[in-house]
Amino acid sequence: MNDKTKLVILGGGLAGLSAAYHSGGSIYEKEPAAGGLCRSERIDGYTFDRGSHIFHGRDPYVLNLLENALGITFKMQSRSCWIYSHGVYTKYPFQVNTYGLAENVVQDCLRGFREVCHKPRKKEFDNYRDWIYATFGKGIAEHFYIPHSEKFWTIPVEEMTTDWLDVRVPIPKLEDVVRGAESYQTREFGPNAQFRYPREEGMGRLPRGFLTKDLQIRPEKEAVSIDTHNKTIEFSDGEKTDYEILVSTIPVPELIRLLKDVPPEIKKSAEGLRCNSIFCVYIGIEKENLTDNHWVYFPEDEFPFFRISFPMNLSPYCAPKNRSSILAEVPYSKYRPIDRSKIIDSVIEALIRAEILQKTDKIDKVGSYDIVYGYPIYDHSRKDNVFRLERYLKEKSILIAGRYGRWEYQWMHDAILDGKRVAEEADKLSSEWAYGR
Ligand SMILES: Cc1cc2nc3c(=O)[nH]c(=O)nc-3n(C[C@H](O)[C@H](O)[C@H](O)COP(=O)(O)OP(=O)(O)OC[C@H]3O[C@@H](n4cnc5c(N)ncnc54)[C@H](O)[C@@H]3O)c2cc1C
Repeated sequence: MNDKTKLVILGGGLAGLSAAYHSGGSIYEKEPAAGGLCRSERIDGYTFDRGSHIFHGRDPYVLNLLENALGITFKMQSRSCWIYSHGVYTKYPFQVNTYGLAENVVQDCLRGFREVCHKPRKKEFDNYRDWIYATFGKGIAEHFYIPHSEKFWTIPVEEMTTDWLDVRVPIPKLEDVVRGAESYQTREFGPNAQFRYPREEGMGRLPRGFLTKDLQIRPEKEAVSIDTHNKTIEFSDGEKTDYEILVSTIPVPELIRLLKDVPPEIKKSAEGLRCNSIFCVYIGIEKENLTDNHWVYFPEDEFPFFRISFPMNLSPYCAPKNRSSILAEVPYSKYRPIDRSKIIDSVIEALIRAEILQKTDKIDKVGSYDIVYGYPIYDHSRKDNVFRLERYLKEKSILIAGRYGRWEYQWMHDAILDGKRVAEEADKLSSEWAYGR
């Protein structure tokens, strides 16, 4: 970055930390600590991440940065992940592991998959529902993918596009589906079949790695208004700072609310962006080895959570000796509201129903937290809305990055790479200005 250009970064999650690491800009973060969604909380010997987090990125640049430059030691692990549906536990992913389900369900899934294998496949799909039926067939669609997706995204699948799917949903070959219907499958599928988890501290070890690099971070600085004409930011404590280039990793609808004189069509684009939210319930149990699994999906509505995970199996650091831990993630939005006052009880009751807990198990710790910005929803207007917002903000010397900055389904490695990308973009802009001066 050109020394004369003052770069300010809003938000100290992984994208903001990476942007500062690659550019030397200063971060202003509203929370007392950096890390954003990648923070971990230590509660009486238990460690809980903000929603279940595993690191499955394979990008060599990111791995070298984390392991060598930032000194993070990971343990490589093989996933043990299950699905509980139709009263039975089957392995994840569903499409290649129907063995064990009722015979009529297995046959529905096989028949539907065989049918789509014999049809020519379209290249483009109007919506996610069409993609699910065309990819997996009626059986897998109706027994798993549609209920799971609508519970998780909280909206009908026809309201979603398919431009976020790429590596996220594994598409099997017919022989894999047949093998997984006839017997217990040992082969694993999908991008997170093997994953890394920090040996210590939970996933919060990642932001702490960045913090060893003397980045300029100002915690407890919540931006409350931005004057794009005079290029100043005001914080909730009354402090102000000026900038020449602003990198924003905070949720883009919130960023737009901080600006004055925003044209109505830009406001409309920001207000049109949708996401789900994830309400998390964490539980510590006075019991050793509750299970060997890492996590389990629950596609059916009679369970409030879409996933439960067992942090003590990610790292022994995550639970005291002889104890176990559970993190339950409950998706919600205005389209699928939840009653916060009842959610902890309903999670515990559902865990007993699924035979994960027994009535006699002693609960050592229980609590909750809310992830209001969960997963950005790829609906039919998202792409145009983001394009319009990005173009408008760039004209005001504001560059957007990160999962909520760009409203993208970014994983941790994507957020780190996006921080690097935006640092390079800011550098380029600064060089162009220097050249023009
Ligand atoms: C439930 C859940 C599970 C996930 N699991 C995985 C996983 O297993 N593997 C994986 O790779 N990824 C996972 N992710 C994604 C991963 O957490 C994100 O990609 C990554 O942490 C996003 O980083 P970010 O910097 O873009 O955003 P954030 O971490 O949200 O950072 C934004 C920062 O901006 C700050 N901020 C907001 N408003 C203001 C303001 N007005 N002024 C100043 N600061 C402000 C916030 O406090 C926050 O620190 C998961 C995400 C969720 C929600």
